[in-house]
Amino acid sequence: MINSKLCMIPGPTPVARSIQNQMGRETISFKDTNFVNDFISVVNDLEVLWGAEQAFVIAGSGTLAMEMAIANTLQDDDRCLVISHGYFGDRFIDMLERRHIHVDILQSAWGDIVPLETISEQLKTNDYKAVIATHIDTSTGVVANISKIGSFVAEHENTLFIVDGVCSTAAVKEHLESMKIDVLLSASQKAFGVAPGLALVWASKKALERRKQLQNVRDSYIDFFKWQPIMDDPMKYWGTPPVNLIWALKQSLTLIKEEGLEYRFQRHVKDAKAIQQALQAIGFDILANEHHRAATLTNVVYPEGVPDVEFRQELARQGVVVAGGIGQTAGKLFRLGHMGNIDTHIITSTLNAIERTLAQFIDIDYGVAVKTYMDNR
Ligand SMILES: *Cc1c(COP(=O)(O)O)cnc(C)c1O
Repeated sequence: MINSKLCMIPGPTPVARSIQNQMGRETISFKDTNFVNDFISVVNDLEVLWGAEQAFVIAGSGTLAMEMAIANTLQDDDRCLVISHGYFGDRFIDMLERRHIHVDILQSAWGDIVPLETISEQLKTNDYKAVIATHIDTSTGVVANISKIGSFVAEHENTLFIVDGVCSTAAVKEHLESMKIDVLLSASQKAFGVAPGLALVWASKKALERRKQLQNVRDSYIDFFKWQPIMDDPMKYWGTPPVNLIWALKQSLTLIKEEGLEYRFQRHVKDAKAIQQALQAIGFDILANEHHRAATLTNVVYPEGVPDVEFRQELARQGVVVAGGIGQTAGKLFRLGHMGNIDTHIITSTLNAIERTLAQFIDIDYGVAVKTYMDNR
């Protein structure tokens, strides 16, 4: 008998009961003052906690937030620099080229990062309109040094720094003002622990000024200037806000404030390190180089003789769902999300199920993973 499956993929992540309950509430008019006030508090919390001039919350996934970030800051014939540590960094390239934006690309081998010196040197070669980096690339489990890159970009007056935080925001530190980020983008279903459906974008003053300079942008649904009046006063209308999801995000922000952002960041680092040690202790390898491993997910490389699909199917039967590798890592590893509103109960259950499953394929010392996690957390 299986009661429920733990959704340990890199998004959607487990949704806490109190957040689920918000999605089950009776839906009311988006002009109801109770909802309007809740929406105002969500936008305000996002701006204060992430040090932004303006936050946007709209219906859509992280990919829409990526589009929104570039649609409001870049136009035809602009040149920008993409720092890519994997599949999601690469995703920007096609998006930008469709908009006739010239793209220079710095790519690393999967599991590695582009050296900081290479980035600072590259920035001197061109007057880039924007530098785009993925904080944690979900395909490789690698974390970029956002504050360092931000300090390089800040030396260039006309360059904006755009950060994809879909797999990091609310788990790893991101603060627009202090980290010199101009546009941060994210989504509800990863470290916020809300169901999929919300695209989140934060903009600095400099980014809003760029939007103004562009005058007309091609897109309307994702235009900052269409949404800014609504974020300031949700009594106004542009597109119908997803009422229940915004309530769910409000509850997620309540949990985040109760826990404390700093504590939450530390929790993710501590758990990630212990989970990674636990997995290595039972014979798995980790794709990301140990100096820049993500705190939100791990790309776990199989030992010899463990077949990917069969392993993940059996693990799901044991009650834990993980994701397969993408692109060049397909078949070689599984991706384990460990972000958002998860606790020791969820983590040890996950590790235990991984051990039960692995034991069906190779000889292991049962109990080592959970013990290693508990000893190191
Ligand atoms: C998941 C993810 C995306 C895409 O978000 P969707 O909600 O799936 O559209 C973009 N960037 C990163 C880093 C991600 O992890």
